[in-house]
Amino acid sequence: MGTIRIGVDDTDSPNGMCTTYLGALLCEKLEKKGFEIKERLLIRLNPNAPHKTRGNAAICVVAENAEKKESDAGDAKNEAFFTACSLVEEFAEFDCENTNPGVVVSEGPVSPDFYKKALRDFCTIEEAENLLEKSGALYRGWKIKRGLIGATAAVSADLSDYTYEVLAYRSPFSKEKRSVDRKSVFLSEKMTYPRTWDSVDMKSGVVVCVPHTPDPVLYGIRGESPEWVMKSRSYIVSEEPERECLYRTNQGTDVHLVDSVISDILDGRSYRLKGKVSKKPFTGTGGHVETEISDGKSSVRCMAYEPTKEFRDIVRGLIVGDEIIVCGSYKNGSINLEKFFIESLAEDMTKKPPVCQKCGKRMTSAGKDKGYKCRTCGEKSKSPEIIRSERSVGKGWYEVPPVARRHLSMPLVRNRRKNS
Ligand code: ATP
Repeated sequence: MGTIRIGVDDTDSPNGMCTTYLGALLCEKLEKKGFEIKERLLIRLNPNAPHKTRGNAAICVVAENAEKKESDAGDAKNEAFFTACSLVEEFAEFDCENTNPGVVVSEGPVSPDFYKKALRDFCTIEEAENLLEKSGALYRGWKIKRGLIGATAAVSADLSDYTYEVLAYRSPFSKEKRSVDRKSVFLSEKMTYPRTWDSVDMKSGVVVCVPHTPDPVLYGIRGESPEWVMKSRSYIVSEEPERECLYRTNQGTDVHLVDSVISDILDGRSYRLKGKVSKKPFTGTGGHVETEISDGKSSVRCMAYEPTKEFRDIVRGLIVGDEIIVCGSYKNGSINLEKFFIESLAEDMTKKPPVCQKCGKRMTSAGKDKGYKCRTCGEKSKSPEIIRSERSVGKGWYEVPPVARRHLSMPLVRNRRKNS
């Protein structure tokens, strides 16, 4: 028989579970039933989806049952569907109003366009159901069935660019504080960076790969290949993981970003936009830094929020006239900066009253548009003294630190390695 794709989404709640954990269980169960697991895919969708619990993840397991003959293909599909549905019934957080699981089993991608839309835009449950009806996929949604959106997108995902993440899990019922040796995580980063990334935030000394949320993830190591993430994982000293799962994923690929002009941007989508800084950056309440870019026709506010830490200093270093490309989601009237590229720097010039040529004293303003006057000897001058300051920032890319990175955002270190 050919391969089948099993998509699952929306099984967790803020109080527990994680769809990737259910994915790990599903692979194990299917293997016991004679399936060969061809792919474990962790698919992140629109980071601005309103009902996401944490990182808007869905999973897709690609499997084949070598024991079943071509004529039994339907049986294998049914068996995989039944297995996934049973796991959802056993583990999903049904008590949470916002947990509305979905399971899809198809023989191929249901609709790559639907994946793209779920990644960069918003989809409805009806759209997903209509596609599933037409495609001949087996599917089931629970409660209001919203998870069918993520599950349909996951089976349709086209990963032209991808990275890997190995996730180690503990029991979903564990209430203990996670026990992961901090030093070992730093060592693992030292031994495998830049082939792996975002396990720690070197500047702030924060361990990033161990979550603080009540879910079964013990830690997750992200990187460019299965070999590198497993090498990195081998340095980690921790409580004994209950199980682990190595996923291929669209994380760290920037696939959520759409090239656009400012006038076309829509709330809840993520963009790459070009413009000139049109407002001097300033720090507002809570330490958030705000600026604005304009492309001559339209302008948009750009924000670097407090959790982006030292990245805000770079934003503060921008001045009006700098030409930049910004990347980030457009939400509530602002682009939330994930990174930006400085294409050209404006000259940082300030005007000062000139020094009197006759007596050497500093002149003062003679009034609006009237030039300058020396209060000591009465000499006049029309031109101010121009002071050119050195810029604190140079041309190039700047990004938020690992603690503030969004799952889909490509770390600059990966970008550099890809282009080298
Ligand atoms: P989980 O680990 O359970 O997957 P999560 O943080 O990934 O947690 P979900 O609980 O899955 O988030 O919630 C996201 C919900 O939003 C799902 O029901 C999913 O189908 C739906 N969804 C995902 N992307 C979109 C989109 N682009 N438009 C509309 N709904 C979406």
